[in-house]
Amino acid sequence: MTNETLTMTLDELAHEASTCTACRLSQGRTQVVFGVGSPRADLMFVGEGPGYHEDKQGEPFVGAAGQLLTRMLAEIGLAREDVYIANVVKCRPPGNRDPLPDEIDTCKPWLDGQIRNIDPRVIVTLGNFATRFMLERQVSISRVRGQRFEVGGRTVVPTFHPAAILHGGGESSAQFQALRDDFQTVRSIMAEARPAEPEEQLGLF
Ligand code: URA
Repeated sequence: MTNETLTMTLDELAHEASTCTACRLSQGRTQVVFGVGSPRADLMFVGEGPGYHEDKQGEPFVGAAGQLLTRMLAEIGLAREDVYIANVVKCRPPGNRDPLPDEIDTCKPWLDGQIRNIDPRVIVTLGNFATRFMLERQVSISRVRGQRFEVGGRTVVPTFHPAAILHGGGESSAQFQALRDDFQTVRSIMAEARPAEPEEQLGLF
C-alpha cells in the first residue's frame, strides 16, 4: 500500500481507502471515514478515530465532540469548509476503544497522503494519539498543548481532544479554557504573514 499511495491524489487516496481491509478495524466498520473539508486548506485538524456517528455518516467529527470542534472553529472565524479534518485511523475502533499501535501504523499511509496532498501550513492535533503521530514521540497532551512545533516545514499545535473536555469537566474546566486559548494561538499563527515566495521578493525591487 505505502509505495502506491506516495503518488496518489487526494481523490485517489479516498477511493482506495474506501475499500481498505489492511487491518482488523475494517471488520467492524460501517464505512471508511476518510476526511472532510477543503483540499487546499492552510489549516488541518487531526483527531483520533471515528466514533459511532462518524462511522454511520462517513464524516469525521460529526458527533458531540465534533459539535464542540465546530464551535471552537467559529470562535476563530472559521467554518468546517475552510479547514480539512481527518483522523489517525479511518475506521471506528470497536466500542470506541483506543486505536492499537499496529492499526495506527497500518493506517499511516492514508494520513501521510492527506497531509502531502493538502499541504497545510498548520496542523492542529487533537489529543494524545494525533499528537504522538505528528511529533513521533510519546508525549503527553497536557504537557505539550498550546505549544508550537516545527515538523517537516509545518507548524504543529497540539491541543486537547474535544471529547476529553466533554467527558471531563465540561465548560467550567481549566481544560476547556486551555482549548479556547489554544484556538486563539492557532488564530494568531494563521494571521502571521506567510514567508514571501521568491518571485514576490524579487517583485519588491
Ligand atoms: N473523535 C475523533 O477523534 N474523531 C472523530 O472523527 C470523532 C470523534
